[in-house]
Amino acid sequence: MALEITIDRDLCMGSGNCSFWAPGVFDLDDDGVAVVVDAGALGAGLESEGKVILAAQGCPTQAISIVQDGVKVV
Ligand code: SF4
Repeated sequence: MALEITIDRDLCMGSGNCSFWAPGVFDLDDDGVAVVVDAGALGAGLESEGKVILAAQGCPTQAISIVQDGVKVV
């Protein structure tokens, strides 16, 4: 089942860690705040779930939440 990815833009400090680890899914917008650019990149196999979870775990402000099969994993 697809991961549900949520970014708390108020918590994001724009470090870019997430877009480094999973550039197909995360990017920084013009304000330097992270956005999910293509959650479908997971389904298309362009990014692995492991990399997206690593990206979320590596967020210095814990701004990224991931829910898998209804269970919060990050
Ligand atoms: S890793 Fe966290 S703080 Fe850094 S850009 Fe991504 S969401 Fe923002």
